[in-house]
Amino acid sequence: MSAVVLESTLTCPRCEHARSETMPSDACQFFYECEACKELLRPLPGDCCVFCSYGSVKCPPVQAQSSCCG
Ligand SMILES: [Zn+2]
Repeated sequence: MSAVVLESTLTCPRCEHARSETMPSDACQFFYECEACKELLRPLPGDCCVFCSYGSVKCPPVQAQSSCCG
């Protein structure tokens, strides 16, 4: 068993501002607003949440290898 990481650093694809965020352990976050440029980030095609697309660590359900959002 491996520990699930709940801290992920989200990097904005527009302005490259990075911010460390704590992920919910049992849910996905679909939208994330960059605090620097106010860009509303959404997951890339094939990804279930913004952490999988832009974060340094994938979301907890993916880390646990369970299906996340279907
Ligand atoms: Zn930004």
